[in-house]
Amino acid sequence: MAKQQAYEVVVIGGGPGGYGAAFMAADLGLEVALIDPEANPGGVCLYRGCIPSKALLHLVKVKQEALEAEAWGLQFSEPKLHMDKIRDWKNKVVEKLTGGLGTLTKKRKITYIRGMAQFADAHTLEMVAGEEEGSKIKFQHAILATGSEPVELPGLSFDHHHIINSADALNLEQVPETLLVVGAGYIGLEIGTIYAGLGSKVSLVEMTDGFMPGADRDLVDVFSKRNKDLFETVMFETKVTEAQVKKKQVRVKFEGKDADKGNDSYEQVLVAVGRKPRTQNLGLENTKVKVDDKGFVQVNAQRQTAEPSIYAIGDIIGEPMLAHKATHEGKVAAEAIAGHKTAYEPQAIPAVVFTDPEIAWCGLTETEAKAQDKKVKVTRFPWAASGRATTLGRNDGFTKLIIEPDTERILGVAIVGTNAGDLIPEGVLAVEMAATAKDFALTIHPHPTLSETLMEAAEALYGQSTHIFRK
Ligand SMILES: Cc1cc2nc3c(=O)[nH]c(=O)nc-3n(C[C@H](O)[C@H](O)[C@H](O)COP(=O)(O)OP(=O)(O)OC[C@H]3O[C@@H](n4cnc5c(N)ncnc54)[C@H](O)[C@@H]3O)c2cc1C
Repeated sequence: MAKQQAYEVVVIGGGPGGYGAAFMAADLGLEVALIDPEANPGGVCLYRGCIPSKALLHLVKVKQEALEAEAWGLQFSEPKLHMDKIRDWKNKVVEKLTGGLGTLTKKRKITYIRGMAQFADAHTLEMVAGEEEGSKIKFQHAILATGSEPVELPGLSFDHHHIINSADALNLEQVPETLLVVGAGYIGLEIGTIYAGLGSKVSLVEMTDGFMPGADRDLVDVFSKRNKDLFETVMFETKVTEAQVKKKQVRVKFEGKDADKGNDSYEQVLVAVGRKPRTQNLGLENTKVKVDDKGFVQVNAQRQTAEPSIYAIGDIIGEPMLAHKATHEGKVAAEAIAGHKTAYEPQAIPAVVFTDPEIAWCGLTETEAKAQDKKVKVTRFPWAASGRATTLGRNDGFTKLIIEPDTERILGVAIVGTNAGDLIPEGVLAVEMAATAKDFALTIHPHPTLSETLMEAAEALYGQSTHIFRK
């Protein structure tokens, strides 16, 4: 039986953007409904992205560390993988976090509607799937947060068994003997690292000339050096032109520089070549919401679309497609709807690749500075000189600051090394607060920690890094 309900704010999509927006709107005293097909909020990030991938990356890192500890006199027996238990543990991590979000939703008195919605007009949604299918929901304001989905390549359509996407890969139905990963961006590298750690022979094929297109090459070089034996084969400037599933194998053809390095077939092929906004079947044509030529919803600084009652946040509005960007935008949209003076205007959005070593950066990169012909000073502190890195047996890494020459203002920070992702927020704060290299140098950092590398990178600008001798 179709019901009619009305709310001050309805959020469509329960990912980090959507639940962040719904929670903020409720905290600001608005009457909120949140719509998503899953039993609890979480979205791609918690169910099929950030969280399961990081749980599994942690597992393979522990395995690797156990092997490397032999050099320090600590020997374990050869690790055994119990796939059912691993799957179970990963699922429990997801359940725990999404369950927690469900509880927080209830505590905030947000009405959670399980299903899919589409716009009937600028103030009405219609439930098109789920427990309330057919019912209409009226809203004063809506926040669209339906996220993104994996891009398919022509000739490489997902059958979800042999030709798979990241969500299939993280379901961990099987650990194939051979896996070809198409695309060496962060998703391809993270999942490639997981499967190699679980025992698959992983090959990688990438259209550009290196891992992590767009990231500074000096950071990527540290990753490449440590992981030179992780992958069976790596093919750069090479494309997959054809794929056919035959006798439980995917036969593939390659074209390009390294085409002859590839096998004829693989048990599974993971396509990780990017993500596209989920704007299909949303009834956007019944509103004035506009999308750009790549399909991303267009918004202003308050994240309001061309339809004044509808806001949009997260992956659906464009790059960088990252959970923390989505959440921040969600808060801005909720504040704007509540009548606060607010805007989305970050100076730096951190990016972290959770491989081993981790690669993290924020603000201006060296590559961007070169492309913009912008004069910058670059200072680095090698982790070979870090006490903490040495105690961890992980001297592979460095910390780099990108500095405006006249003001010595920190424009960007980049770090490669173990736990780089946990160090980068200090860089984000520095860029946001317009801190200078001197601020970093004069701030006492705890010893022995990897955070000292930020301070010492700044000291190195003046030739005064304690642990570097300048001739
Ligand atoms: C493998 C992988 C690893 C990742 N790792 C990281 C990471 O480490 N760090 C990071 O910052 N980002 C990571 N990301 C990216 C991150 O997951 C996204 O940026 C983030 O989830 C975007 O949040 P969102 O709120 O925009 O949408 P999503 O998380 O995509 O959520 C959208 C939700 O809307 C729902 N929905 C869609 N249509 C409708 C509809 N019509 N009605 C109701 N609900 C609907 C969907 O089912 C989904 O639950 C990763 C992504 C992948 C795939």
